[in-house]
Amino acid sequence: MSRRREHVPTRPTWRCRACGIAWPCSAAKLRLLGEYRHDQAALTVYLATLLAEAAEQLARLDPGVDPAGLADRFITWARARG
Ligand SMILES: [Zn+2]
Repeated sequence: MSRRREHVPTRPTWRCRACGIAWPCSAAKLRLLGEYRHDQAALTVYLATLLAEAAEQLARLDPGVDPAGLADRFITWARARG
């Protein structure tokens, strides 16, 4: 029996458990946009929570991590388009 791997972040590296790339990958973004399609504000709050957690953990792994880059990666993609 093989369990389908979900596109969720691995802590503390914040890479996708399924793809291995920096989370959120496109599959994760699509899933989140679908789950929160009626509540954009809740998605932003959720992503901000993850961003705070990731920023703390990633800074511990790599003190040179760029907070602005992280904000782009976690939040900007989800902003309303138009
Ligand atoms: Zn993924």
